[in-house]
Order: sequence, then structure tokens, then C-alpha cells
Amino acid sequence: MTDLYTLERGDAPLLVSIPHLGTAIPEALRGQYTDVALSVADTDWHLDRLYAFAKSLGATILGARVSRYVIDLNRPPNDESLYPGQTTTSLCPTETFRGEPIYRDGCAPDATERQRRVEAYWQPYHQTLRAELQRLRGQHANVLLWEAHSIASVLPRLFDDKLPDLNIGTQEGRTTHASVQAQAEKAAAESAYTWIANGRFKGGYITRHFGAPQDGVHAIQLEMCQSTYMDEHAPFDYVPSLAGRVEPVLRKMVGGALDAIHALNAAG
Ligand SMILES: [Zn+2]
Repeated sequence: MTDLYTLERGDAPLLVSIPHLGTAIPEALRGQYTDVALSVADTDWHLDRLYAFAKSLGATILGARVSRYVIDLNRPPNDESLYPGQTTTSLCPTETFRGEPIYRDGCAPDATERQRRVEAYWQPYHQTLRAELQRLRGQHANVLLWEAHSIASVLPRLFDDKLPDLNIGTQEGRTTHASVQAQAEKAAAESAYTWIANGRFKGGYITRHFGAPQDGVHAIQLEMCQSTYMDEHAPFDYVPSLAGRVEPVLRKMVGGALDAIHALNAAG
């Protein structure tokens, strides 16, 4: 563990990345932030706890510690839009999902400060992610990169209606072998939750950048509604009775996709 991320290593062909888990805003920067921003409401809360089951599958789990309000690890470092024409959030967002200002007047980072944050916070996460994928690729011909995300289920500024509970993103199938996506979809379809593949969320930068099935890296993003496991309102408590219902579904989605990876590896 460093100040920037937590890393637990396993040896299965499975890496769970949680780039929006972080709640930390470095002490030197805190004075620039509004009070509302310091509550870091747009965190992908508790996903380390929800995905703890993945350790029993032999997963490597990488989780960010720095808040997306400092820098968004799931955006390209040049900050081009992932969804051109739609309202979305940027590399160093200046507004929350609800449109509230993140910075005090005159404190938003300029280009020099954004570049500093790329080097100080963004690159270390990505270098670790790349190194861990390489380590696992040294042991397995095919590996699964599971991008774990969660979001408030209703955010009128970003999308029109309540989101489906489970949003699978693979860039229309380009970031993984179809058999791997099919297993994740099967588990979602057999569950009591609403779901969609490649709807509003098609996979962010990490899924798109690292997902390269021809090179043995199969990437799936799961954006899930926070209403399935927690209270979406401050203080954003984990709700064990809810989480206990969705966790077995996640286990089947990830486990099924991992079985498909094992089948690809066995087929050689
Ligand atoms: Zn996220």
C-alpha cells in the first residue's frame, strides 16, 4: 500500500481495478476545495468491501486512495471526452455530478497543475495497473481486467432516467472475447436486477485502453447503481442487507467471466 493506492496480489488471471474508490484529498490541496467537495460524494463507495469475495478467486485487487476530485484515473491524460456531445466529467473535474462547484473561486487547477497531477497521481496508478497485467500475462495467456465502478442511480444532469442496476461496458464487444462478456451477461440476466450491456456506460478509459483481447487482456467495466448495496445519501453508509443480495450476483458475474478466461487458456 502506498499513499496513492492499495494493491493485493493474487495469481489467478483476474485483476479487479477500482479507480474511483479513493476519498483522499491531499492536505496541501484541501484549502482549494469547497465544503461540499470535501464530502467527496461522487466516490465509488465501499467497492473494496463489496468485491472482497474476489480474493477467494485469487484476484489481484488495485484500489485508488486519491479522490476523483483530485484527478480522474478513468479519463485519458489528454482529457478528450469519452462520450462526445454528452455531459460528462473531466480529468480534473470542476463540478460534482450534481453541478456543484468543486473549487473555491479562482482555485481550479490550470494546465500546469493538471499536468503535475497526471504525473503525481494518474501515472502511478496506471503504471501499477500495467505492471500487474504484465505479471499476470506472464502466468496466463489470457487475463480478465474487471473495472469496478458504482454511481448514484439517479443523476439528472448526467442521464435521463434511473440507471439499470448493472451496466456492463465493453465498447460494444471490442475490449473482450465474446465468451467472457456472455458469462457476465448470463449471470446478470439470471439475477433479480435490471441490467444492460453497452448502454449509457460502454467502458471508460481504462477499459478502452487496456482491453485488448487479441493480446490476452479482456476488459469488462461494471458500473452498478449504489442503491443495490448502500445508502446513496450522505454519509453514504454501506447497507449489509442490500449488499448481501447483490454480492452473490457479482460473484457469479466475475466468476463466470473468469471461467471463460480459464476456458480460453485451456484451449491454448
Ligand atoms: Zn467509477
